[in-house]
Amino acid sequence: MGARDRYSRKLECSKCGASAFADASEDDDPQRKNAGFKVDRMPQGFSTDRPSADPTKHMIRCRCGSVFPFKRKTVYATGGEPRG
Ligand SMILES: [Zn+2]
Repeated sequence: MGARDRYSRKLECSKCGASAFADASEDDDPQRKNAGFKVDRMPQGFSTDRPSADPTKHMIRCRCGSVFPFKRKTVYATGGEPRG
């Protein structure tokens, strides 16, 4: 009830290969229309390019200049991602 769901997620730049973990949180409330997504701690080398309450639209900028969404809509087959 109104709790924030906190988790870490690995950011990986497909252009230069840089990777680091960011801390993020979402509202753990299925009634809400959007997840109230927020990045709580951005790792060194990455910054927010365009913030959004939707993790698939929250754009991250790598120091190499590449911009990519915090969370991709399509799931990559490379080993999958561990679920928190
Ligand atoms: Zn990069």
